[in-house]
Amino acid sequence: MKSLWSDAEAAQFTGPLGPRVYTSRLLGRDKSLVLHGGGNTSVKLREKNLFGEEEDVLYVKGSGWDLETIEPAGFSPVTLAYVRRLAALKTLPDPQMVNELNTHMLRAGAPSPSVETILHAILPHRYVDHTHADAVLSVSNAPDGEKRIREIYGERVVVIPYIMAGFDLAAYCAREFPKQAKGNTVGMVLLSHGIFSFADDARTSYELMVELVSMAEEYLARKKAWHVDYGSPKGNSFIREDVAKLRRAISDQAGNPLLLRANDSPRFLGFAQRPDLEKLALQGPATPDHVIRTKPFPMIGRDVAAYARRYREYFEKNIQKAGGQKTMLDAAPRMALDPALGFVAVGRTAKDAAIVEDLYEHTIDVILRAEALGGWRALEQKHTFDIEYWDLEQAKLRKGGTPPVFTGEVALVTGAASGIGKACVEAYLRRGAAVVGLDRNAAIETMWQRPDVLGVTCDLTDAKAIHLALDKAIKRFGGVDMLVLNAGIFPASQAIQDIAAESWRSAMAVNVEANLLVMQACHPLLKLAPRTGRIVVIGSKNVPAPGPGAAAYSASKAALNQLARVAALEWSKDGIRINSLHPNQVFDTALWTDAVLAARAKAYNLTVEQYKKNNLLRQEVSSKDVAELAAEMCGPLFAKTTASQVPVDGGNERVV
Ligand SMILES: [Zn+2]
Repeated sequence: MKSLWSDAEAAQFTGPLGPRVYTSRLLGRDKSLVLHGGGNTSVKLREKNLFGEEEDVLYVKGSGWDLETIEPAGFSPVTLAYVRRLAALKTLPDPQMVNELNTHMLRAGAPSPSVETILHAILPHRYVDHTHADAVLSVSNAPDGEKRIREIYGERVVVIPYIMAGFDLAAYCAREFPKQAKGNTVGMVLLSHGIFSFADDARTSYELMVELVSMAEEYLARKKAWHVDYGSPKGNSFIREDVAKLRRAISDQAGNPLLLRANDSPRFLGFAQRPDLEKLALQGPATPDHVIRTKPFPMIGRDVAAYARRYREYFEKNIQKAGGQKTMLDAAPRMALDPALGFVAVGRTAKDAAIVEDLYEHTIDVILRAEALGGWRALEQKHTFDIEYWDLEQAKLRKGGTPPVFTGEVALVTGAASGIGKACVEAYLRRGAAVVGLDRNAAIETMWQRPDVLGVTCDLTDAKAIHLALDKAIKRFGGVDMLVLNAGIFPASQAIQDIAAESWRSAMAVNVEANLLVMQACHPLLKLAPRTGRIVVIGSKNVPAPGPGAAAYSASKAALNQLARVAALEWSKDGIRINSLHPNQVFDTALWTDAVLAARAKAYNLTVEQYKKNNLLRQEVSSKDVAELAAEMCGPLFAKTTASQVPVDGGNERVV
């Protein structure tokens, strides 16, 4: 690997923490060094307090911050002398250690200092960098890992056996570091965990990290263990319903809906098809702290009940060794390897699932390189268990809190790039759902740049395009629980005798048939929804009260309304609820340009302002009003309601 240092870029990071922020970000940019909040950095600064006295302050990465995007505010200042004294204590339970660190910060409101803070404090150098470099993990998890590490680095690094991060590790290093460190020591390797580098300036410390990790990479290359061969996987046979079935089984096991993310790229599919898969994959993670997100081992294949039995055995076996009371986590897998599906990541949120996928992508490389060195060997399971059931993690569980109502669920919205559809995307996101937005407008693909939204360009009158879009949706989120049928067109106003056949047909194609196609394609998925399937139809006031000049529109919306009612009859046996909303005059949509609005108001002899509130309640109805009700209709409040038709129009005399 190469140093990414640039003088010009470094100059943009000013202030006492500037260099610390800059090189932390450089480390964060390289995913083979740190992933998703992994790794940490620190700097020791001498500062004057309010009394003019000088004191040493350790600025260490705070929890919840990612090295790649860290800011000065992401570093927690702690009193160095006090933290160093802690390392000399005989014992200090980790919850108490966290308390000591939090109560010796110099800035109220700073994030909790990293659990590796004491370790940073006891190292004598000003700048300390710590990563979980893939290459170092590959070497230390191969046979004779420690010997190999010493062979690579000699006296340049201190070598520490695996001890779980926290007080015990810091106290051990405080004793061991001075014994092993020599004049030329520039780093420390924690076996099966990661590597430290340190120096008196930020650039040197960072570039030492690059140099030390490069030495491990070169060692792997010399041993013909650097190039990873993923094999040539046999063509995949992805079937949407298989993934949705798997999601249902995993969600049922977990007791709440979960999202799945399926990846059949050659790396994952090749690994999932290896004959020695069980031997490699079931041993454990590349480094134990992945376990919080991945669980100790993946599910091989799709037998969720068998996985749950295996997980329970793991819990029973290790809880006896660990002693004490622990609350067992759910026994559902967080990742699966399947010869047809490739890799399946599981998460409560789309972000969680994406992180699991990233972690395992790197894990595969670590495993295969260690395997090429003579045999991949994960740490003993008890270490993984210690992290998964660490007091601090259990405390988080007890705090818990209620997640948003649609957490772990997927909503599919048609016509999502504008108006009511766009507002629906926002309304479901606010309630914790992952959202698939379909639209003819290609802007849908980049409108939301976040892991819980998938925008797909799709002509809904084309059945093939719908199936392709659903394949994408299922690969990304694993299922469809809620369907919002919103896409529609409003043909230009015409008297019946003037309606062109083409205009009539296109209203029917988009407003009726396209919805039939989407419903048909989604039905098998909705049937498998962990909390039952729900459909909301965005109808129109024109269904109960049609308007002159809008025959094509009114007839097509009425046909859609009947389709929804029949679906309520036919699909109730599958637990699927379907309800319709009838909005009227929602002006913040693309249909209503200023010119159209002015013309319509004039036709009724009203000002635009009066026209907008031309309903019984004298209230303007917005896209958001409609979207919020659409989302609520998928929630628990409407759990016993199907086939309903609810107006969202401020009250209309003709409908009442
Ligand atoms: Zn670490």
